[in-house]
This record gives sequence, structure tokens and C-alpha cells, in this order.
Amino acid sequence: MNVVKILLLCGAVLAFSGCKKSPFDGAKAMAETESLVKIGPREAGGGGARRASVLLEGKLKALGLKTTIDTFSEETPNGKMHFNNVLGRLPGKSNQLIVLVSHFDTKSGISKDFSGANDSGSSSGVLLELVRVLKERAPFETEFLIACLDGEECRTQYGPHDGLHGSRRLAQQIYEAGGAKLVKAVIVLDMVGDKNLNISVPRNSSKELVKELFFAAHELKVRSQFAIGPGSILDDHVPFLIAGMPVVDVIDFDYGSAPGSNNYWHTTNDTLDKLSVKSMQTVGDVVLRMIENLQTTN
Ligand SMILES: [Zn+2]
Repeated sequence: MNVVKILLLCGAVLAFSGCKKSPFDGAKAMAETESLVKIGPREAGGGGARRASVLLEGKLKALGLKTTIDTFSEETPNGKMHFNNVLGRLPGKSNQLIVLVSHFDTKSGISKDFSGANDSGSSSGVLLELVRVLKERAPFETEFLIACLDGEECRTQYGPHDGLHGSRRLAQQIYEAGGAKLVKAVIVLDMVGDKNLNISVPRNSSKELVKELFFAAHELKVRSQFAIGPGSILDDHVPFLIAGMPVVDVIDFDYGSAPGSNNYWHTTNDTLDKLSVKSMQTVGDVVLRMIENLQTTN
């Protein structure tokens, strides 16, 4: 068979399958998740979270991003604690900004064997794989701020001194630098690896971005796995919302052995075997499509 024939055959196969291969690789997102989970529990203020921040910064650097670790301390119910936000920048053609967020800390006090595979491994894995693809395809119209955030989980109960430490810090920094008006979108990823993927966007997300997310899911024929949730939740999107930035929280907050039980969440059952490459592929593809669509909107 000559080269021309091979090319024709490949073309026919692609036309028949009707799809071109996605640049986002769910298997790579899973591998990134595994490398984070290997660290063990990543309680904010502890050695695990610190090691995770170093690992994540190294990965963003290796992907060619300019990075910083923003170390800060805040009061918590357990006294003053140190947090490390890992930030990376990917310049764009304009000064409009898309902020991509995942927390990397895990809930405290579960067990020394706690994996936090879905919460917060999966979203961090998907975020790293998104960065790889975005870097490959750069420059985009928008700049990207990649935010691997610390201290999402609360120690006892969410409040001004408990939980959402990293997102509150970053939202305030953007706001105080006068950058809130340049933010086109903040996309928060959280718990996106469940084998049984049902994204339920909390109602306290920005309507226009929920529409963009659902449209991207519709375009990729996975709209049935994306819905609006029953109510509002407190997650890393809230500080950005308060600071006046458009934000959507992409979260599947039904993570358990049966619908509605949520019995894997914040337990030692939150392990890698509950996740799937396919779910990460779906979320990665949809968010990537949404980002591409946002390049051409005002
Ligand atoms: Zn959590």
C-alpha cells in the first residue's frame, strides 16, 4: 500500500468515526491525580499540603508556566496556620483573564490513610492536563491564571476564619489589584472524577457561565451529565462571586455507592478506584470547549 492510499484510508476512518481525537487526555489527568494522591493526606497547614504545593509548582514550571507560591498565614479554629497557593500564568493576546481553579488540600482529621482521590485529587489532575493542552495551543486571546489553591476545607465549620482560605486570598488579591473587571471567567473544578459523573452546578454560580458550560456540554453531546444543582453551596467559587467576578463551580456533589448517599465524600472510601478516566475526559473536554468558546465572546 502506498502513502496516498494509507492517507485516504485514514481519512475514511476519521470520517466514519465522525470525531477527531481530543487534545485533552483523560489518562494523563488520571496520572496527575495519582501523583498527588501518592503524597497521602494533604491537610492545610501540614506537611502533605506543603509537599503537594511543591509538586504542583514543579509540574506547572515543567509545563513552561511562570509560577509563584503565595505563602500566607491566617487564623483558624486551630490557631494561626500557613497556606500555600500555587499560581501559574499563561500570557494571552489581550489583558482579559480566565482563572482556572482547583484546591489541592484534603479534609482534615479523616485518617492517616486518607487519599482524597476525588476531593481534591481529580480536579487538580484535570487542571494540570488542561494546562498542558492550553500551553500547547497558546497564545489565546485571554490570559490564563492557573490557581492550585490551599485551605478550601474547613476545620470545623465554614466561616471567615475557617475554610476557603486560598480562594478568599486570591479573590481579594485580584480585586485589590483592580483586576476583577478584566476577569472574563473563573472556572472552579471540584470533585470531577467520579465514575458515575453527574455535574450539578450550584445555583450560586454566574448564570452566563452556567449557560456557556451547558452549551459546551451540548456541543460535545454530554449535556445529560451536566445539570443545575438543587441549591447553593459554599465552595471556592464564593469569594470570587462576592468580589464581583463571573464564576462557575463545576462540581459533582453526589459521590457515593448509591445516588444521594454521598458516602465516599470525606471518608477513607474516597480512593482512586472510584474514579474514571472517562469522567475526567468528559470534564476536561467540556471545560476546554467552554474556554475556546469564551475566546470569541464579549
Ligand atoms: Zn472536600
